[in-house]
Amino acid sequence: MKELLTPTFLMAQQQLDNVAKHLNVDSGIIERLKFPRKSLIVSVPIRMDNGETKTFMGYRVQHDLAMGPSKGGIRYYPGVDLGETAALAMWMTWKCSLMNLPFGGAKGGIDCNPAQMSEGELERLTRRYTTEILPMIGPEKDIPAPDMYTNEQTMAWLMDTYSNYHGYAIPGVVTGKPIGLGGSLGRTEATGRGVAFTVLKALEKIKTKYSQPTVVVQGFGNVGAITARYLYKEGFKIIAVSDIYCGIYNPNGLNIDELEKYVAENKTVRGFKDSEVITNEELLELKCDILAPCAIGNVITGKNADRIKCRILAEGANGPVTPDADEILNKKDIFIIPSILANAGGVTVSYFEWVQDIQRLFWEEDEVVKKLKTLIDKAFEDVYQLALTKKIDARTAAMIIGVGRVAEAKRLRGLYP
Ligand code: NAD
Repeated sequence: MKELLTPTFLMAQQQLDNVAKHLNVDSGIIERLKFPRKSLIVSVPIRMDNGETKTFMGYRVQHDLAMGPSKGGIRYYPGVDLGETAALAMWMTWKCSLMNLPFGGAKGGIDCNPAQMSEGELERLTRRYTTEILPMIGPEKDIPAPDMYTNEQTMAWLMDTYSNYHGYAIPGVVTGKPIGLGGSLGRTEATGRGVAFTVLKALEKIKTKYSQPTVVVQGFGNVGAITARYLYKEGFKIIAVSDIYCGIYNPNGLNIDELEKYVAENKTVRGFKDSEVITNEELLELKCDILAPCAIGNVITGKNADRIKCRILAEGANGPVTPDADEILNKKDIFIIPSILANAGGVTVSYFEWVQDIQRLFWEEDEVVKKLKTLIDKAFEDVYQLALTKKIDARTAAMIIGVGRVAEAKRLRGLYP
């Protein structure tokens, strides 16, 4: 239990307690939702390229199983622990529920530094981790997906390991797979595309006229780069982006098409033409219309919140704003699109991928994008209208909807035995 109760997990519990006050729900149901349904800690020993054996710690947490299988990404990142994984699993539950997907939340991760590991080491790590969590996962039980420093290839190894164990191909065990293995068109772009859709909706609502909105994106990985790509295509001016090493800034705007090519070759944004190098901390504090933190959690805290100068804050990353920062930002009239809405495009298209895998019937990309837009716009509208009616912030409104639906499903099912 001590390992579970880390600051990040306590923060997720606190958010649940706060939203429970707005809901007319039996306290016993809230008590059940405060803890993950199942958590597994595994050691993952692998042979490194130099012949030594090294052991990594891995986690898989299922937060809720009331409405269907659980769903959530797997991250490879230094310092991943049980508490963080459980908090992320809980947020996945609210996100799936807000989007009306028939899933509960889950999350997984391995405490490792993939930047310092070879392709072969990562493959052995993934296959051994999959073997260790194998009893927990499956198309009807729990379906992993990519997250930080995991990608299509990681999912292909996971699917292959799982399928080998069962003796036949089971594509539905993971989403975010390569297209050639039953992946969905539009899945790679889905999270960033979803962030961009929510930004467009937020701009529509705040009714401020911008000739060319300025955008700052923290993290130029899957979510950040694609958010930047779609907002750039809309004609927005992307003035700064960053990665783990540094930020780059050009007040006249960065050419995102060229930057994507540059990053594919150089693996960093550092050194891109016509840009000034800044720190990640400076980047967050730049004056802009839209700030999209798309890297890691807890980057906007009580310490820097009063220096944030955006009008819209789109949470591409999971949990980038701490609760104390939230209070400060709300007073500053910053329109926050909470992560369970802003980055829900990923799990939504993961859901489409799972449906396509089960049906063995695949959709055109246009259909995927259209369905994604319909679901994201609807969720945005639900959150916005509830926030207006109850005079509450969008995060609380999103949580009320997300938690409320899960609580109702739990009430209907009752407590077994
Ligand atoms: P990614 O690994 O593709 O990219 C992460 C980016 O963040 C990279 O540019 C990396 O250099 C940068 N970064 C890492 N640590 C940093 C730090 N300490 N400071 C600044 N930058 C840092 O990961 P991703 O899939 O884009 O995920 C990013 C965030 O979005 C995570 O919080 C993840 O949980 C969330 N998310 C991802 C998806 C998805 O579909 N990939 C879906 C929902 C939410």
